[in-house]
Parts: sequence; structure tokens; C-alpha cells
Amino acid sequence: MRLDEMTSPGLEALRDPVALWPVGATEPHGPHAPLGTDTLISVGMCERAAERLGDAVVLPPLPFGVTRYGAAFAGAIGISEATLRAVVLDVAAAVEEQGFRRLVIVNNHFEPEQVATLRAAAEEAGALYLDLVRRRNAERLTDEFKRGSCHAGRYETSLVLADAPELVDAMAAELPANEVNMPAAMAAGQTDFLAMGMDRAYCGAPAEATAEEGRATFEALTDLLVELVRADA
Ligand SMILES: [Zn+2]
Repeated sequence: MRLDEMTSPGLEALRDPVALWPVGATEPHGPHAPLGTDTLISVGMCERAAERLGDAVVLPPLPFGVTRYGAAFAGAIGISEATLRAVVLDVAAAVEEQGFRRLVIVNNHFEPEQVATLRAAAEEAGALYLDLVRRRNAERLTDEFKRGSCHAGRYETSLVLADAPELVDAMAAELPANEVNMPAAMAAGQTDFLAMGMDRAYCGAPAEATAEEGRATFEALTDLLVELVRADA
């Protein structure tokens, strides 16, 4: 199901597949979770969805996004909105030329400029965009996600614990909860983690994270993705 592990004839044998494209970011996720957390989540849900759909392949992930909020911390390596838009348009054109029936962009990095760029580029390219911060989608995810206090907290750390527990530092269990309403902070014009009160690059409650919750959230995320693809068929 992973395109980069398939052969050319193997791909050619598929009829009219859909292309699921995991998109993430490389940025600090607290002192405990990997820089590639967002990418890992996108890959995990795309692989699960591809298995369920049967006629989908997972493109190699895009591990860079528009990342400015975490610039004060080691590991924030981002690209501009213009670059992100150009990559999306180029990949969408190539995917179309290769005969895929649809490109589906699956993003788990929610900086507003990232989301706005992907929404616009997807529309321009005729691709589908799974918009997880839209209310109708967000309301099917966990309470922490719905409150928007969810950067490297319980929600994201649980997802990493589900698929790559070796990448979560055991110190996560000692981290105090740090409730921050990120959407409200962003709306108020705050543009970096420190100004939002995230002095260790996380908010939410990483100590409450469990692999079990992560597996359940992956199922909910996969449901949303599968529904989007099936509604398009
Ligand atoms: Zn994240």
C-alpha cells in the first residue's frame, strides 16, 4: 500500500487507485515527543485507511510544513506558504498524470497558515483535503483535541504511543498538564509557543496519554478519511 515500497508493474496492476498523501511538519513537540509527530500521525491514518479501502496507495509523506510557532525551540524546520503550495500543485499534477482517480491530502499540522495554504492548494488542484479542524470532524475526536489544547499533549502523545512507543520519552509521565486554548490564542494574534504559555513546547496533558487512546483515535481518524474517500467515489 506504500507507494515507495511498490514496484512499477505492481502499481500499474491497480485499477484507478486513490492516492492518500500524508502531510506533517518537523517541529518541537514538547520535551518528550518526536519532531515528526504530525507526520507520523498522518502516515498512521493513511496506512490504516488504505488497508480498509483496498484501492488506495499511500504516497511518500511530506515531512515539512509551514512552521513558525515553535521557532524558539530546537527542531523547527519549515517551508514557506509559497513552497508548500507549489509542492502540492506539482504533486497533484503528477498524480493526475499517473492515472490516480484522486489525490487526498491528509494533514495533522494545524498552524493556521499551514491549514489555509493546504485548503486553497487542494481546491486549486482538484484534490480532496481532510480538514480535521472543521467542527464536524473535530467533534468526533477527543475532548483535548476539541478544546484545542492539543499540541504534544494527551491527544498527540497517545497517537505516537500507539504506533511508535519507542519514540516517546518516559519523562512524558512527569510532565504537568498545561491547558492552553490554542485557537483562542491564535485568534488573539499570538504567533509563537512562548507567547501562548507553552514554555516547553507543549500544551494539554501528555502524562495522561495511553497507547489505547491512541489506537482508538487512529480508528476515529481513519473513519473520517475513509468516509471522505467513499463519498467522493
Ligand atoms: Zn503536532
